[in-house]
Amino acid sequence: MPHHQDIADDAETKSNYECLGCGTIVEAESHPGGCPDCDGEFQNRAMSLE
Ligand SMILES: [Zn+2]
Repeated sequence: MPHHQDIADDAETKSNYECLGCGTIVEAESHPGGCPDCDGEFQNRAMSLE
């Protein structure tokens, strides 16, 4: 098999995004877009943490 991937690595594909407007943190597989609370912009936190 050319592919070598765990079925259970689902959690590792998610990233934490923090709203620059109100500080709300969401966990999502892709960029969540605008904040539902304040319509602010989300920033991927994983980039600075790792
Ligand atoms: Zn917000």
